[in-house]
Amino acid sequence: MSELGNLQQELYAAAERYLEVYLRARDLPETLRLLTSAMSGFGTAVDEVGFDFATSERLYRRDIEQVPSPIEYTITGKHVAPIDRNAGVVALCLNLQLKIMGQLVKLNGLRLSLVFRQSARGWLVEHQHFSQPTTVHGADEAYPLMEIEERTRVLERLVTERTRALNAANAELERRAVTDPLTGLYNRLKIDELLQHELARVQRYGGALSVVLLDIDHFKAVNDNHGHTAGDRVLAKIGETLLSRTRRTDRVGRWGGEEFLIVCPSSSLEEAVRLAEDLCLTIREQDGPAAARVTASFGLAEYAAGESAEELIHRADLALYDAKRAGRNRVRSADHLQQGS
Ligand code: GH3
Ligand code: MG
Ligand code: MG
Repeated sequence: MSELGNLQQELYAAAERYLEVYLRARDLPETLRLLTSAMSGFGTAVDEVGFDFATSERLYRRDIEQVPSPIEYTITGKHVAPIDRNAGVVALCLNLQLKIMGQLVKLNGLRLSLVFRQSARGWLVEHQHFSQPTTVHGADEAYPLMEIEERTRVLERLVTERTRALNAANAELERRAVTDPLTGLYNRLKIDELLQHELARVQRYGGALSVVLLDIDHFKAVNDNHGHTAGDRVLAKIGETLLSRTRRTDRVGRWGGEEFLIVCPSSSLEEAVRLAEDLCLTIREQDGPAAARVTASFGLAEYAAGESAEELIHRADLALYDAKRAGRNRVRSADHLQQGS
């Protein structure tokens, strides 16, 4: 074979090796080994300004990190032109197929120009340039990596948006699962869980824990005299009052129809009494339409060592019953239980 033929064959083999390592294997160290130290171009009109090897390395790294999975390619056209014994140009027409974030992207009819230089390590790439045949060289040149980057950005934005929407939907589901829809307070299931949680905490770390159980007085009459919807409004209003007048650490839940439970961590019985007295007064003095004028009765208990949640609630319930029997619209506390009994 002629010397020209030999050189052409060597250059084409070098180009194929480069495509295998850079596109198909996406092997950064191996790709960098195929570049000359004077590598001066990666192939975007923007990135090409003021090139050196370090910049090339950065661009190759970014490119491979952005699309780490194999880029399949087919060569649909080629032109191999030795310049002299030590330099040559391989221009290829390529169809690429790559995956960006799980999406198949096809880039057809790309031109890749590679300038090779002979070195002790064989033919190395000194310059590469990607372009699309429909465009002319220049600052506004279409550039497949830009297109890929743009698609990546779009996909990333989509993923971010969907993740955000999904998180919001999950948060909303979670909120609904623990919320009483009428009052916005914790529902029975959740307040029960919170009570168990706080109980476990005092059992483990000590400290005080009190509960306040309250029941609206003669609430049936509100429904009977003003209608169920008016009754609902009263319940919602009571819910607001309870939320606005308790501490941030207090847990307020709807315990039953017109019964509410407030779990007060780090609160002695005396502190719980102060809270309940305040609530009792506030509810009693609430103004608004006749339907909204209600009173409530309160039963309180403070956690005693060794007690279960059921026992604690039971004592609060007995105290509430006391308050009802004594004429309603008042606060009653369960006796302090002997600690440890
Ligand atoms: P007491 O002072 O002894 O507590 O009398 P009361 O009428 O409040 O007690 P009772 O248990 O007899 O009646 C409670 C009423 O609460 C009956 C029920 O229809 C009403 N109720 C329960 N849940 C709801 C609700 O979600 N909305 C409305 N409007 N009423 C409810
Ligand atoms: Mg009741
Ligand atoms: Mg009642």
